[in-house]
Amino acid sequence: MYQVPKLADYSQAALDRAAKELLSALEVEATAVTSDAEWKAFRDRWMARKSGILTQVNEVWLKAAPAAAKRETGLRVNEVKKYTRQRVESAWKSTLFHKMPVQEVRGEIKLRPEDSADFDSLMKDYLELELRSERIDVTLPGIPRPMGAEHPILRVMDEMVAVFQSMGYSVAEGPEIETDYYNFEALNFPPNHPARDTQDTLFIAGQEQKPLRERLLLRTHTSPVQIRAMEKQKPPVRVIAPGKVHRHDASDATHSPVFHQIEGLAVDEGLTFCDLKGTLDYFVKAIFGASVKTRFHPSFFPFTEPSADVAISCIFCGGKGCRICKQSGWIELLGCGMVDPAVYGFVDYDAEKVSGFAWGLGVERVAILKYGVDDIQLFFQGDVRFLEQFT
Ligand SMILES: [Zn+2]
Repeated sequence: MYQVPKLADYSQAALDRAAKELLSALEVEATAVTSDAEWKAFRDRWMARKSGILTQVNEVWLKAAPAAAKRETGLRVNEVKKYTRQRVESAWKSTLFHKMPVQEVRGEIKLRPEDSADFDSLMKDYLELELRSERIDVTLPGIPRPMGAEHPILRVMDEMVAVFQSMGYSVAEGPEIETDYYNFEALNFPPNHPARDTQDTLFIAGQEQKPLRERLLLRTHTSPVQIRAMEKQKPPVRVIAPGKVHRHDASDATHSPVFHQIEGLAVDEGLTFCDLKGTLDYFVKAIFGASVKTRFHPSFFPFTEPSADVAISCIFCGGKGCRICKQSGWIELLGCGMVDPAVYGFVDYDAEKVSGFAWGLGVERVAILKYGVDDIQLFFQGDVRFLEQFT
């Protein structure tokens, strides 16, 4: 730290040397100032009335000067004082650079055009520094960033949606938290249907006071979206409802409490089971290849009558029989049927005039078959080693 030296020699050259030494110490300290607190300490060290360096200069240099050198010493001391005050002020301005983003510092200049040349030259230095720090060596190798990829479930879902869109279906969406009415009642599930059992359905807690139909639950299928679509729109209707659904299922290789479905619905005058078969046959060929065959056999769903399960010829053995199709040559893929006329009663459609069909299938099921994945959990664990394979 600089300390004011006593002068033995009061010659011109000695005075010059002492002043130069003091000012270069001042410069070093001024440059180190970056904050308000540092600036205050710096100002007090140099300018404090009682013991600041300027006061010491007065005492140690001027008062001790021999009479013959008084005038000359006084001139130097005044110069030193004047410069020190300026430098302390400009050091405060330079703390602005540390406090503000560059744009604001630039704005500061515009706001204060009357500011001293000191500030302008400081600004110039600062911009030069900034440019230097932003210089880019274009010959350096870049940082490789891994490619992102669509999640396999979303990819398969998009693919299936595109197939139905090409047949004129539009996409409908609905809430994941549904009322019992939309999830069960309007779909013709009688009040004692086993699917309402808490073993299968996740109900929101604390709703015992509400009437059954108003109770909230995590939708167990995307079928409520079909009811909502029919409420909004008179026939003809052609919608698909892709989305996330929830069941009270333990996780294992083939079950997950969260999975995805795509359901479809077509209602119009004169639609028959033939239209349903043609639509689904076209769909599975678009997804699994033109050689895949479909087989419909009777089943039961509360909201369709008649209902059918659809199997496709095994995509692994071509129907000859293998481990995956359990030697049957067929793989169960989806459920479907003609919309039960009772459902139309809930949405104010004329069951005498219109007919329609609906189907639903699990997206994970299709992804498992398409990509040969043996554990549904892999889709939800977020393991990059698994997901990377789909880039
Ligand atoms: Zn097979």
